[in-house]
Amino acid sequence: MKQNKVVISGGGLVGSLAACYFAKRGWIVEVYEKRPDPRDPDNAGKRNHRSINLAISTRGLSSINRLSPDVEKKVMDIVLPMYGRMIHSLDGSTNAQAYSILGKAINSVDRGILNEILLDQCETFEGTKVFFQHSLEQCDMDAKTATFKNLVTGEEVFTSADLIIGADGAHSPTRKFLQYYTKVNIEQKYIDHGYMELEMKAKDGNFAMDKEHLHIWPRKTFMLIALPNLDKSFTCTLFMPWSKFESIKTEDDLNEFFKEYFPDSIPLFGQESINEFFTNPKGALFYVKCTPHHYKSNAVIVGDAAHCTVPFYAQGMNCGFEDIETLDTLLCEQAAPLIDSKDPVACQNIKTSTLTPEQIEAALIKYTGCRPRDSASMIDLAMYNYIEMRHSVNTFSYKARLWLEGKLHLIMPKVVIPLYTMVSFSKISYTDATIQWKKQTKALQNVVSVFTKLSLATIAVLLVKYSGPRLGLRLPSFAEVARIFRK
Ligand code: FAD
Repeated sequence: MKQNKVVISGGGLVGSLAACYFAKRGWIVEVYEKRPDPRDPDNAGKRNHRSINLAISTRGLSSINRLSPDVEKKVMDIVLPMYGRMIHSLDGSTNAQAYSILGKAINSVDRGILNEILLDQCETFEGTKVFFQHSLEQCDMDAKTATFKNLVTGEEVFTSADLIIGADGAHSPTRKFLQYYTKVNIEQKYIDHGYMELEMKAKDGNFAMDKEHLHIWPRKTFMLIALPNLDKSFTCTLFMPWSKFESIKTEDDLNEFFKEYFPDSIPLFGQESINEFFTNPKGALFYVKCTPHHYKSNAVIVGDAAHCTVPFYAQGMNCGFEDIETLDTLLCEQAAPLIDSKDPVACQNIKTSTLTPEQIEAALIKYTGCRPRDSASMIDLAMYNYIEMRHSVNTFSYKARLWLEGKLHLIMPKVVIPLYTMVSFSKISYTDATIQWKKQTKALQNVVSVFTKLSLATIAVLLVKYSGPRLGLRLPSFAEVARIFRK
């Protein structure tokens, strides 16, 4: 039987995970990556303009586990768990807010090392080749061919495949080619805020702050956050409106800005790191929602290529990894319809490399049937979470809800689930999580409203009972009370 071949454009986080999965399922795999090999010592220190570290949570880890529990262990060996947010107030005081009443954590992981683990893993499979410094130039999705340019020699490399996967990131060239072949609805939006990273080095050989939290300095319209690294430094990211970035022109402006908004961070950073503000690159933040994600049995886009998001729920990569798990599940379902395709153990030895184009197309139709909707919900949640992180975390109503939902979750774990738990510690689809959260919000609002009305009524009754006769007031009749409640 013919062995299928997949060509993957992009060997970043999602592309390298996809390569591992397809190689494991018996496919011939070719990955073409524009950047140089990050494992080559000559390229150490060169990074693309994305975050140095990121948070991996249940969805991302589950996808790695389905590939191989051993690889998951390798990843877990290099992460730093963060059990909650550490809120830094203006007066320098801090306040810890747990992510989960059950003590669950999200994990800070080095983007480069994670990518290297996945690249190493895909290259353990015979029949897998990774070509670095090769950039996608042309893609004929009817003929299932692609042309890459070797960026070192300038030579054009022509290849063909049974399936072409676009994992080439937020500005995906594959997504652009997909639009020539099928009607792709796209929504793209730049937000008015950008980001910049600053390094907080280790202090006397140790972490400068508590390493088990994601630190946030919420300042209503902007914020600074910090995630720990294995070398005991923190990568801090300043998210701010562009106008605010532009208003800081001199070292005096910068120092005033830090004194006013992040005074406690100054001794932790040191002047040298703060001054990186003037040299470090600033990144734009935007999202892309699009559908469909595939063309016939011939091509599919995954990860940021399919759904670039603003990073405020730390779900971009997690969602991209979930794409690959979902795609694999749907292909396994075609290869072995009698096996529970969601069960990683039952699917361990399934090969999908001899699926027919009809079977691949059936899987891709289902893929487009679920992923665009889910990733769009993830993007909406991320847009919402920016307001929560930079402002709501400091408000009484937010803290009260966090506390109440946590307690209710303990008593009724399936009925009340905090949003953060559904997004970061479960595999409930992003769409279902959003629906459930909206229902919970409504129910909680109703409870608070009834409680407020009852309290007000009780106060009124007591006032009238004890002070009424003196003031010439009387208690209302039952019918009058009922009328108040109906309002
Ligand atoms: P990328 O990582 O962008 O990889 C795409 C690859 O394709 C790149 O290696 C690129 O070189 C290559 N490529 C591009 N063009 C071509 C071409 N023409 N030919 C060949 N190759 C090409 N997500 C989380 O889950 N948790 C977080 O905490 C988190 N934090 C973030 C913080 C910031 C500041 C930002 C910006 C993002 C964050 N994300 C986070 C999102 C996460 O970075 C992305 O979702 C993730 O990198 C997507 O992986 P990808 O492989 O799809 O794309």
